[in-house]
Amino acid sequence: MSASVNNFGGVFLQKTETRWIQLGASLGGLAALISLGLFLILSGSDPNSVVPGILMYFALALLAGAGYGWLLRTGIRPLKTYESIVVGVVYGVASWLFFGLVIVPVLSGRGPQWNAADAAVQFPLLMIYLLQGVILALALHGMQSLGWLRAVESPHAIDELETDIQQHVVILGGGFAGVMTAQELEKRLGDHSHVQITLVSQTNHLLFTPMLAEVTAGGVEAQHISPPLRAFFRRVRVIRGEPTEINAAGNVVTVKLSSGSSMTLAYDHLVLALGTVPNFFGNANFARYAFTFKSLADAIQIRNHVIDCLERADSEMNPERRRARLTFVVVGAGFAGAELIGGLNDFVRGSLWYYKHLRNEEVTFLLVHPGERILPELSTELALYAEDKMTARGVTIRGNVRVTDAGLGSVTIGDETISAETLIWTAGNLPNPILKNIGCETDKRGAIIADEKLLVKGQHNLWAVGDCAVIPDIVTGKNAPPTAQYALREAKTLAHNLYAVLNQGEPIVFRHRSQGALAVVGHQTACAEVFGFKFSGLFAWLMWRGIYLSKLPTLEKKVRVLLDWVIDVFFPRDITYAPLVNETVDPIPPTGD
Ligand SMILES: Cc1cc2nc3c(=O)[nH]c(=O)nc-3n(C[C@H](O)[C@H](O)[C@H](O)COP(=O)(O)OP(=O)(O)OC[C@H]3O[C@@H](n4cnc5c(N)ncnc54)[C@H](O)[C@@H]3O)c2cc1C
Repeated sequence: MSASVNNFGGVFLQKTETRWIQLGASLGGLAALISLGLFLILSGSDPNSVVPGILMYFALALLAGAGYGWLLRTGIRPLKTYESIVVGVVYGVASWLFFGLVIVPVLSGRGPQWNAADAAVQFPLLMIYLLQGVILALALHGMQSLGWLRAVESPHAIDELETDIQQHVVILGGGFAGVMTAQELEKRLGDHSHVQITLVSQTNHLLFTPMLAEVTAGGVEAQHISPPLRAFFRRVRVIRGEPTEINAAGNVVTVKLSSGSSMTLAYDHLVLALGTVPNFFGNANFARYAFTFKSLADAIQIRNHVIDCLERADSEMNPERRRARLTFVVVGAGFAGAELIGGLNDFVRGSLWYYKHLRNEEVTFLLVHPGERILPELSTELALYAEDKMTARGVTIRGNVRVTDAGLGSVTIGDETISAETLIWTAGNLPNPILKNIGCETDKRGAIIADEKLLVKGQHNLWAVGDCAVIPDIVTGKNAPPTAQYALREAKTLAHNLYAVLNQGEPIVFRHRSQGALAVVGHQTACAEVFGFKFSGLFAWLMWRGIYLSKLPTLEKKVRVLLDWVIDVFFPRDITYAPLVNETVDPIPPTGD
């Protein structure tokens, strides 16, 4: 019996995501047909009165079935029968709400059927969708239980099949540039290639920096903007660690693993994508007393510290100390600084409701920068709009001046020293210092000089991408700016070029025309310049959210962030002090400790 099932199952054995999607779509269509047929037979109704736009009904059923198949493809945990029925019911209700009451009526020119009377008329449709959901869920469940359907193989399963690795590409850095290079190269090479890709990164996640300010301001949970690196790949080997020595002449990298031990990686091609570190311009006090704002740990630490300041100020009787605790200084008015202070200002003022002894007037937010205006990446008009909005919400902006020193509880701005327990540094970055010792040509900041094909100057198998590199932008004639937008595009070109040189092809030149820039400067307020058009206010804020949500990697994280935003509408910001994390330290002590 089992042999015959397996033979028959051989026809259905699914290995790729595409097959899951195709099968989901087919079963979705079949379930739609059966459920509609059954309903019509049992109720004796006229099809057009129950399902107006029958073609659309089937098209949407195919689409939803494909989505359902895609969601189930990895089979991380096979569902039990009753769980499949519950999922089918949820699918049915969601399809009815989304397709039955909104999409189909809107597409057929009737507008959404929101009110109770409309929904009552659509009740038979609910029955059909419920039936459809349960049939689809049980059909897929049955196929899995009988062994006719297999989950998409895990990367480990594929690794084990690899016996003839001939070339090794090592990528250092798991940020936008490193992850996109690895992902695109993996896609080009296919599942069973003779090329092994290894990605080395300090953290086990990709940090979606555009939403980092939202984490600090408590609008979004930290894990929700940081998908795990392993979720991006099927074959790429991910190593959590830091390179300690890059021997470009010997084609070997030594990596200190997060467990404390070391390993060496021999490579055929090496990609440098290590990003930047904060630049304190040689002032040890900044390094000692200022918070940096680059990593997830930074965002959590700043948030904790700000909450702690509010807690301590609430019970502080000494007016000087109280003022210091309620004075928050941010240095640097680029995207990171402006977005951070806008979000934190809203967070603190919005949280005062919990602190009965603190008044709004006691809180000071100070944005200090050496330029004429904030947000130099945007046009003057939008930057001035942002300044007006931030000032109206209680942020004091001090331009044309630098923070010159810092101490415990004090900050010196120009030659004036003020009491402040919070100093956050976003005023400059330096390429990762490890790059200084490779022996390659760098600019005076220490950034690796690459050509327009992303090849490091004077090298044949060393590539550089993202913020750690100086890359000519042939569109503007300047260097490519240090933004995620450019890092991602550079990485795509690099993946193309790596594939080309591994297969005796021709590398191409990096070319990208900026699509614009967006910045949020407080709750429901943003500025945007997209393809030369300028937007501000609520519309720009909605645009910001839509664009960045679509760019946030993985469907799961998109859903989580969306839920965070919905919760944020109905509930006050969370002032819970989070346990501290240090993402570069292995939380598991060595055996024997
Ligand atoms: C708060 C903030 C907000 C931003 N907002 C925007 C925005 O809205 N739009 C935009 O386009 N750009 C934005 N940027 C800039 C953008 O994040 C960077 O340009 C982009 O991340 C550069 O990508 P990268 O891969 O070169 O570097 P990174 O993303 O910094 O990646 C470097 C990677 O290397 C790893 N790494 C570093 N040192 C080591 C080491 N020694 N060993 C191993 N791994 C290491 C890091 O963990 C990281 O994974 C923002 C930046 C910040 C800080």
